[in-house]
Amino acid sequence: MPVYEFRCNRCGHEFEELASWRDLEDGKVQCPQCGSKEVRRKLSLFATRYGKSQSSGSSCGPTG
Ligand SMILES: [Zn+2]
Repeated sequence: MPVYEFRCNRCGHEFEELASWRDLEDGKVQCPQCGSKEVRRKLSLFATRYGKSQSSGSSCGPTG
């Protein structure tokens, strides 16, 4: 199961939880701090993480 990031709507606590889609739909995920089930899943951790593309060269823009 993938790890999801959650954020509690009640206390604002952010946590990670191993959860499946069924758990999400069933609302089994709850905040470990206040116990509220009003949690929102954050964006996946597997977002495309491309580093800064090194753009070298300053030969552009003909002057004159
Ligand atoms: Zn909470």
